[in-house]
Amino acid sequence: PGRGAGSTRTTLTHCPYCSLQCGMDVTAGDRPATLVPADFPTNRGGLCSKGWSSTELLDHPERLLRPLVRSTPGDRTSPLVEATWDDALGRLVAAIERTQARYGRDAVGCFGGGSLTNEQAYQFGKFARVALRTSAIDYNGRFCMSSAAGAANRAFGLDRGMPFPLSDIADADVVVLVGSNPADTMPPAMQYFDVGRARGAKHFVVDPRRTNTARNAELHLQPLPGTDLALANGLLHIAIAEGLVDEEYVAARTTGFEEVKAGVAAYWPDRVERITGVPVAGQRRTVLALARAERAIVLTARGAEQHRSGTDTAQAWINLALALGLPGRPGSGWGTVTGQGNGQGGREHGQKADQLPGYRSLSDPAARAHVAAVWGVDPDDLPVPGRSAFELLDALGTDGGVRTLLVLASNVAVSAPDARRVISRLGDLDFLAVSDFFLSETAELADVVLPSAMWAEEDGTMTNVEGRVVRRRKALDPPAGVPDDLQLLATLAERLGAGRHFIGDPETVFQELRRASAGGPADYSGISYRRIDDEQGVFWPCPTDEHPGTPRLFTERFATPDGRARFLRVEHVDASERPDADFPYVLTTGRVLAQYQSGTQTRRARSLQMVAPTPRAELHPDLARRLGIGPDDVVELTTRRGRARFHALVTDTVRPDVVFAPFHWGGGSSANALTDAALDPTSRMPAFKVCAVAVARVEGP
Ligand code: SF4
Repeated sequence: PGRGAGSTRTTLTHCPYCSLQCGMDVTAGDRPATLVPADFPTNRGGLCSKGWSSTELLDHPERLLRPLVRSTPGDRTSPLVEATWDDALGRLVAAIERTQARYGRDAVGCFGGGSLTNEQAYQFGKFARVALRTSAIDYNGRFCMSSAAGAANRAFGLDRGMPFPLSDIADADVVVLVGSNPADTMPPAMQYFDVGRARGAKHFVVDPRRTNTARNAELHLQPLPGTDLALANGLLHIAIAEGLVDEEYVAARTTGFEEVKAGVAAYWPDRVERITGVPVAGQRRTVLALARAERAIVLTARGAEQHRSGTDTAQAWINLALALGLPGRPGSGWGTVTGQGNGQGGREHGQKADQLPGYRSLSDPAARAHVAAVWGVDPDDLPVPGRSAFELLDALGTDGGVRTLLVLASNVAVSAPDARRVISRLGDLDFLAVSDFFLSETAELADVVLPSAMWAEEDGTMTNVEGRVVRRRKALDPPAGVPDDLQLLATLAERLGAGRHFIGDPETVFQELRRASAGGPADYSGISYRRIDDEQGVFWPCPTDEHPGTPRLFTERFATPDGRARFLRVEHVDASERPDADFPYVLTTGRVLAQYQSGTQTRRARSLQMVAPTPRAELHPDLARRLGIGPDDVVELTTRRGRARFHALVTDTVRPDVVFAPFHWGGGSSANALTDAALDPTSRMPAFKVCAVAVARVEGP
């Protein structure tokens, strides 16, 4: 993977951004680093504009190179000034010790991110449980994948985003995408759809917006946000009525169908049309194509999942896929399209409130014993599960809540729902420490800011959208004195008296991760850096050195105790907020091609800023006309939680009753200042994708 002569060297590594984990060759040496796309199985020589821009940030003038501390300790109104590592870490460690002595162990918390490598996510979870012995840890993947994960665990006994390789998409005769827009979020993945389309495959897109993915579809179904569950139940109703259920598969490989059949009986096509707005003819066309295809795939993503009924919504689409006999067959199945670069691995190795490495449950005595043995600690000393991400943030500074918080690779001041409430809670902390590459909106609020190495400056592994474990390889050294997060955690643990448990070397940490995951649902014990190099990544589970890895899951049995998938009856419930006289429209949020997540990085990339410099709220021409709003006018969106301003993008790609706002910006254009923190009862996923909104023009172009 590393090659070159003299002072210049080219290294195969992966894009820092999304879960496709496109391969790229980074050349570094005595000039600024450059990159070209690699012919890796995920991207086959393609990259999107975000990937192309990624080396721009390595030498960015705003890059943090030294720790920052408040000039007056304890006064967050005083300026952040440069400090030595000794001073910055000394303040953090003192705050941890002071807080735990006064309020108990759980008063110190950790908040991680889906861009951390597997090794870093693993180490962060271990740091919380062993060095801090706190239950208070969760990560931003709770805002991303948790509903799909909850549904997959319930239905299949195992959660791996796509239980099949990306190449299966090219083999499918029909693909239904629900709330998923890969044409804008991971464009190189469209190669797989294009190959299928070229040989006659048909794609159906379910999305309130006519996205670039929907434009090329056989049919675009445009439901009201928050009604995807009713649509899935309606499609299953039609499939049953038309005799399209794969009875043999259902009998042999599943349980619970009769209960679901009884439940969807009430989802008559005309009733579903009334709930969703999707015409009966569109419902029929979609399900008939899906059921009659030899190979068919249903993919859900955040549009379907970021709701207070997100887990049940994913389950409804799984029910449909199971009834048609899809999961476990080549070129077929249900999957979810992960968002963050290591959203998958991030939730497998212990930075989630309820999990231990290997996707083990923190509540399982056998799992606690296994992992404690690897860590060299007493299982009784491991904490119990803590609060989920939003609940952790919402309790900051309260009795029983976290008082000192360490944040790695997450910008919750922009990415959390009801963001102004979260910002206020961050202000209630006794102490906030943030590790990041740039002074993010969250870092701006901190007592201590710790600079961190960037993607091309570190080694580790990432687990992509397909469950393929890939190598992030170091292409150049970080700036002098800037550690990666593994080294940071090892140093902190040392200062906290737990140093013997922590090592800063990624491959050594990965070896430990392998042992900790052995025998668990996400078993990495047969995966090594060498194998990843030789095999262009290895799919988990991979329990032995000789095991080939598992690109396609569930071919013979599901991961449930009896090997059968579980149907589960689920019912449509109204969104937590419905339009009313004060807030007459529906707000939904999402991404644009040239920005990524909270924008900490992409808003600083010049080439991306030229494409998407300002946040634009999408409004239908009918709505714009009614409200006297013209193209590029500034509009104010108001919800029960706050206000935010955007330039208007008047477009008929969005429903007339829906407004779309991108969530990549903070401050006065923070879409998440508007969103609703109503939580899914199973996954604790906030309802990012739907709330009631008022719209008003505030000034001209
Ligand atoms: Fe990076 Fe994703 Fe774009 Fe590929 S599709 S270049 S992984 S952001």
